[in-house]
Amino acid sequence: MNYRYYLDRSSKKFPCPNCQKKTFVRYMDAIENNYLEANFGRCDRESKCGYHNKPDGNQRIISPHAGTFIRPEASFHNEDSLHIGGNDFNGNHFIRYLQKFYDRETIIAAIEKFRIGNSNHWAGATVFWQINEKLQICAGKVMLYDPITGKRVKDPYPHINWMHKVLKLDRFVLQQCLFGIHNLGLHPEGSTVCIVESEKTAIIMSIRYPQFLWLATGSKSNFKHELLKPLKGYHVIAFPDKTEFENWSKKVEVMTKRGLSIRVNPFLEHRGLEEGADLVDFFAQKEAA
Ligand SMILES: [Zn+2]
Repeated sequence: MNYRYYLDRSSKKFPCPNCQKKTFVRYMDAIENNYLEANFGRCDRESKCGYHNKPDGNQRIISPHAGTFIRPEASFHNEDSLHIGGNDFNGNHFIRYLQKFYDRETIIAAIEKFRIGNSNHWAGATVFWQINEKLQICAGKVMLYDPITGKRVKDPYPHINWMHKVLKLDRFVLQQCLFGIHNLGLHPEGSTVCIVESEKTAIIMSIRYPQFLWLATGSKSNFKHELLKPLKGYHVIAFPDKTEFENWSKKVEVMTKRGLSIRVNPFLEHRGLEEGADLVDFFAQKEAA
């Protein structure tokens, strides 16, 4: 019998969140065919470390390749969840970072536009709610940023979690959507939609270029037809992080055949930026020069 979440059978190992040795085997998702978040896995140093963080809600599946698997119905958060962290953004590290560059009014508008939330899961954490084009609340991603650098806190482990886990909703079936896509209805068909990977970048670019709808995939692997299909009829420009251009271009070939109009912008590939840099890093470097 197969399970939806299973330990990666390849030889790839990652740094263990417990002992820091590169002996950590991550969990795969058989349906999405990619890794789960980086904190799920088992350390191979069974006797010396033994760290094992299992994902919740694992379930038996018929082979996803047999085409007989029926995806369980997606769960949604209720409207009240959006307000769980309250309206005081003074402690929110991501908002404090934005305050270095933008005035109060601009930031409040961004909070409202993207429905940014607070969480005390970690002191200063931010919630990026994924609300779909039908205004259903698919997910809440909890992340922690450094208030000074605006970078994600990755030490001693990546600070990413989901609101359904924080709220201990055991039977919640996560089905992600693009971050920001709840604003799609404000933009007429045929208009230009820009896609980036990180939520932070979508928010900042939306402040800089409000004439476009800015969306974030939240991860490299979320750049896929399943999440982009509501954008049929729009002109999509994708800005992959530096060195992801080829990867995303290949995915676009497939999505184009399925009726989407997407151009992948190679802008970041040719700038003197470090690997994985995005548009916000580009502007930061330009403005520092
Ligand atoms: Zn370990």
